Amino acid sequence: MPIRILPQEVVARIAAGEVVERPASVVKELVENSLDAGATEVSIEVKGGGLELIRVADNGVGIPSAEVPLAFQRHATSKLSSADDLDRIATLGFRGEALPSIAAVAQVSLLTRSAQDPQGTYLEVQEQGVVRREGRGAPVGTTVTVRRLFENVPARLKFIRSRASEAGRVQQVVHQFLLAYPEVRFTLILEDRPPQVGGGTGELRDSVAAVYGPESAAAMLDLRPGGEGSIAVSGLVSSPGLTRSNRNAITLLVNRRWVQSRLLAYALEEAYRGFLQEHRHPLAVVNLHVPSEEVDVNVHPAKSEVRFRDESRVFGALQRAVRETLVAASPVPSIAPRSLAPSGGPSPQAGAFPRGQAYPRAEAYPNRVQLPSDGETVTAGPPMTPKERLPILRVLGQLQETYLVAEGPDGMYLVDQHAAHERVTYERLQDQTREGQPLTQGLLEPALVEVPLALEQTLRDRMGLLESYGFQLEPFGQGSYLVRGVPLPLSGQPPSVALLELLEEMERGKDAQDPEEHLLQALACHGSVRAGKRLALEEMQALLRQLEGCRQPHTCPHGRPTIVHLSATRLEREFGRS
Ligand code: ADP
Ligand code: MG
Repeated sequence: MPIRILPQEVVARIAAGEVVERPASVVKELVENSLDAGATEVSIEVKGGGLELIRVADNGVGIPSAEVPLAFQRHATSKLSSADDLDRIATLGFRGEALPSIAAVAQVSLLTRSAQDPQGTYLEVQEQGVVRREGRGAPVGTTVTVRRLFENVPARLKFIRSRASEAGRVQQVVHQFLLAYPEVRFTLILEDRPPQVGGGTGELRDSVAAVYGPESAAAMLDLRPGGEGSIAVSGLVSSPGLTRSNRNAITLLVNRRWVQSRLLAYALEEAYRGFLQEHRHPLAVVNLHVPSEEVDVNVHPAKSEVRFRDESRVFGALQRAVRETLVAASPVPSIAPRSLAPSGGPSPQAGAFPRGQAYPRAEAYPNRVQLPSDGETVTAGPPMTPKERLPILRVLGQLQETYLVAEGPDGMYLVDQHAAHERVTYERLQDQTREGQPLTQGLLEPALVEVPLALEQTLRDRMGLLESYGFQLEPFGQGSYLVRGVPLPLSGQPPSVALLELLEEMERGKDAQDPEEHLLQALACHGSVRAGKRLALEEMQALLRQLEGCRQPHTCPHGRPTIVHLSATRLEREFGRS
C-alpha cells in the first residue's frame, strides 16, 4: 500500500482509542472537566454499564456560549496557553482531547451556561460534527450526556466485559474522586439503583466512610503532617489491625490526581513492614503534594501515570510519613470484646476493639506521642522517629508456658513469650548487622554439615548474607561444609540443625521480595524461645526489660502482637465494681 495521510475520522478514532478505553474512562474525563471547572457538586448517572447512557452534570463555571463549539475540537483547551505551561500543570485536564475523543465514539450532547450568559447553550455532536445548536434555559454549570458508546467501534465493544462489571469500574472511578476531592459532593446513580451520595464535607475521613464504611474510616490514622523539603504528604492510612487481602484499597494521589504507581505503592507497603502479616495489605489514601514543575503528568493519554524529577525523594517522603505515623500510633491491643464496650464515642477503653477488627481513632490513645504542631519550629537534624513505649510492667507469672502475665499501671498485660523474644532478637540482629559486627558464637570444634543437594544452591547464593549475620562457613568438598561459628541467637542449637533449618526456610522464601529481610525474620524466629518452654522469673523479667528497649515493641517481625491488655476499668466492670 502506498503511504497516505489518514482521513480525519480515522485519526480521530485512533486517538479516541487511547483516551476512551471503556465507559469508566468517559466518566473519568467528564468528572475531571467538572472539577477543573470548580464544581462543588457533580452527579453521575450510568445506564447499561455506560454503553447506553453516561450523564455527568456539574455546577461549575460552565462554558461561555461563544466557546462552546471549540470545546469539541481536537487540541482545544482553556487550560494551557503555551508549551511552558506544560511544565506546571495545575488542572486535571490539559490535552484538549477528551470531548472530541468521546464524540468520535458516541453521540454526545452538552448543555452549559456560564454566569455571563443570559441563557444556556445546547449542542448535539455526532461523529461528523455538530448536528444541532440552540439556546436553552439552564442553571450555571454543565451537563454532558453520552449515548450509544462504541456502537460505531465493534472492535472496542468486543473488549467490553459485562455491563455489571463496567458499572463496577465506573463506581471505582467515582470512589477515587470522592477520596481525592472530599469538599465536592458526588451523586452516583448506577442503573436503576437509588442514588448514592457522598463527600462535600471537606473531611477525608467522611469520604473514606462513604467508600469503605464507617468502621474502617474510624480505624484510619491521620498521617502526621510531614514531608521532605518541597514535598508534603497528607492523608489517612489504616492502623495495622485493619487490612485487606489485596491492594485495591490503596489510593495514591499526586497533587490530587489519582495515579497508578507501583513505586509509590511499594513505598507505602515498605512502611508497614513488621506491622502487617504476610499477604495482607493496608487501606490508604495518600496525597502527595509535589511542586508542579517537579512532576510530569504528560506521560500517558489517560493521565494516570506520572514521572517525578526526583523519584527517591518522593519515595522517601511517603515512606517516612507513613512509618512515623504507624510507629507513633501503634497501640497495645485491648482484650475488651467490642460487644461489651459501652456505646458512645471512642474513649481509651470504651472504643478499643479486639484485634482483627477496627481500632478506635489513634488520637484516643493516651500513649500517643505528642509532636510539635504546625507552626512550632523544630530544630534542625534528622527527622525524629518517636519511640513506641511500653508501660512499666511487673511480672506475675507464666501461663500455659506460653504467655507472661504482668501487671501494669492500667490493669493486666499478657505477653506472648515467643513473639516478644522474636522482636528482641530481630532488632538486635538488625543493629549488629547494620554496624557490621554480627555476634558470632565460635565453635570450639568446627561441625561438619552435609548440605542436601536441594539446598546447596541456596547456600552458595546466600553465603555472603549468612556470613553477614554471623555464620562462619567453609566449603569442605562434595556438599560438605565446616561450620566454625553460628549467629549468637542460634548458639543453643546443634550447628547443623541451625544451618539446615535456616537454609530450608530460605529455600521456601526464595521468591521473597527482600531475601535479607526474610533471613532476618527466620533467624529471629529460630533464635527465640518457643511457646511451651517454662521460664524462670528472672528470665521473664529480662525478656520484658529487653522488649521495653525495642523500637517497635508491640508487634513481632511478622506483625503479630507481642502484648495484649486487659484494662483496670474493664476488670472493674466485669466484677460489677463500677
Ligand atoms: P481538556 O480538559 O484537556 O482541556 P476537554 O476536551 O476535556 O479538554 O475539554 C475541552 C474544554 O472544554 C476544556 O478546556 C474546558 O474549557 C471546556 N469544558 C469541558 N467540560 C467542561 C465543564 N464540565 N465545565 C466547564 N468547561 C468545560
Ligand atoms: Mg478534560
